[in-house]
Formats: sequence, C-alpha cells, structure tokens
Amino acid sequence: MPDLATIGAALSSLKTATDIVKFLRESDLSLERAELKLKLADLLSSLADAKIELIEVQDTLAEKDKKIAELEDAFHKKDSLVRQYDAYYTTDENGVPTGVPYCLRCWENDHKQKQLVHDSKEFRIRVCTSCGHKYEGRLAGNIQPPKAEQPA
Ligand SMILES: [Zn+2]
Repeated sequence: MPDLATIGAALSSLKTATDIVKFLRESDLSLERAELKLKLADLLSSLADAKIELIEVQDTLAEKDKKIAELEDAFHKKDSLVRQYDAYYTTDENGVPTGVPYCLRCWENDHKQKQLVHDSKEFRIRVCTSCGHKYEGRLAGNIQPPKAEQPA
C-alpha cells in the first residue's frame, strides 16, 4: 500500500531532476555532448520515477476517498438497522424491525449491510453472501411487516 513513503520517494525523484537541471544550467554548455546526453537520460529517468510514484499516491488517495465514503454511508445508516436475535433489520415507521435479515457479523465488524440468504443445502440455515457466516434460520429469518390497517 503506497503511503507517505511514496510521496517522499516522489519528492526525492523531483529533487534529483531539479539538481540535474541546475547542474546543466551551471555547466554553461561546456559539457561534452556524450555527458550532456547522459545527464538528460538521468533527468528523464528521475521524472519518470516521480510520475510513477505520484500515480501510486493518486491511487491511494482514490482508495481513501472510497473508504471515507463507505464510512460516511455506514455512519448515516448506523441507527437505521436494529438487532433482533441473530440478525439486523431495517425498521418500519414505528421502529419495529421488519423485512429481510442482514448479517450481524458484517454489520458489527465492517458496518456493511449484507443480506442473508437461505443456505442451498440446509434450508434452516441462513448464510451471508459476503462473509459466509451461517445463522440459525429461526433466529435470523424474514420478518413480515404487520398487515396495513384498512382505512375505515
Ligand atoms: Zn456477513
């Protein structure tokens, strides 16, 4: 994972490039053509290194933005799920858990809302599609919403 060390490496590559340019300027064109070519090759190499290192930094920043967005999303949803037995549920307007079960492990560990599905081999078992954790079906089943009151 690129991090602050990568930024340090990029700065170091840019310093090398700057030093080469300074050297060329101060050498007052008295360099041999071969030496000049060598210095220019070093310069290009340092700039290419800096570019690669900055791309890594850019990727890291993009990953961090994504992670921040996920955490913000989880933060906004943190009160939206409630636990009942071994699963989490969204609530109806009265705060009563309802609907499909969500994985307790994923929600509590990673703040991710992952639905539980029926295990393909064992119908009484509910399984998380994300982490694979298994739950006893009767402790993590669907909750039917209460029938809507008919208007009188
Ligand atoms: Zn899970």
